[in-house]
Amino acid sequence: AKQNGGNRYKLYDAKIEFETAERVVLENYLRKAIKQDEFFLQYQPKVDLKTKQITGVEALLRWEHPKLGTVSPNKFIPVAEEIGLIGTIGEWVLRSACVQNKVWQEEGLPPLRVAVNLSLYQFREDNLVQKIKDILMETGLDPTYLELEITESMSMYNEDYVVEKLSELRRIGIHISVDDFGTGYSSLNYLNKLPIDTLKIDRSFMKEDNKTTIKSIIGLAHNLNLKVIAEGVETSEQVDFLQQNGCDEAQGYFFDKPLSTIRLTKKLRELCGV
Ligand code: C2E
Ligand code: CA
Ligand code: CA
Ligand code: CA
Repeated sequence: AKQNGGNRYKLYDAKIEFETAERVVLENYLRKAIKQDEFFLQYQPKVDLKTKQITGVEALLRWEHPKLGTVSPNKFIPVAEEIGLIGTIGEWVLRSACVQNKVWQEEGLPPLRVAVNLSLYQFREDNLVQKIKDILMETGLDPTYLELEITESMSMYNEDYVVEKLSELRRIGIHISVDDFGTGYSSLNYLNKLPIDTLKIDRSFMKEDNKTTIKSIIGLAHNLNLKVIAEGVETSEQVDFLQQNGCDEAQGYFFDKPLSTIRLTKKLRELCGV
């Protein structure tokens, strides 16, 4: 028994060491990713369910490393948050998305709102609001064409500084959405005091075909005078259901997967006949 235990311990130990080494490698690669130009954005359209027109796009970060290949943001964003790199990466995403949106506008394409995912860690930095204002000034993008997606989480509701920053961003015309809505612990009481514009129904409800919850969130949003968008929409049945229940917008593979800048540009040109 003792020997067995010893072996097991060794195996366990080796696994931990391997994981640690892998993690250190990932961290080191991540620190160099911006400089080495390994990040890029893809854009996924958001569609108005009444007009079927594209109202905006969500910018999604991609990391292509020469040795690791494609690394999912679900894997590297948490690491970037832990090692204090999310501020720099987040700023790169914001600037790139604003620059690209300005490029589309200058080309004469119908104006879109570009949505950027913000980590709650970014709110801990004192100068987030100023940084965003600077980026808008630099790129010349009108703030009404920028949207920020913030994940629903406990801290968001409890911490005054988050609410203050959101209010200031919203005051200058930036659109604020609550991402992954329905998975957190929002108190309904607090929700109507939050400076937000849109609730984004978490993809899991769509996947589980949880019609009751989807309907409740649509009703809740409208009672609070908020817009509501469904994500992860993959089938025409889901589109019909959302339309019948008054959901404002939808996003998902049924309409488009996240697209490269080139492919989205091509699509936008075709849609407006440029
Ligand atoms: P999210 O913000 O909830 O983004 C939606 C995710 O669902 C994206 O995964 C998107 O590609 C995927 N998706 C879109 N439509 C469908 C569909 O119809 N079916 C299915 N099964 N999936 C769909 P992705 O791009 O892998 O991103 C994962 C998460 O990483 C994002 O979840 C977001 O939390 C985070 N993320 C991505 N880019 C950024 C960024 O620039 N900054 C921060 N802080 N987080 C980011
Ligand atoms: Ca999002
Ligand atoms: Ca989401
Ligand atoms: Ca998410």
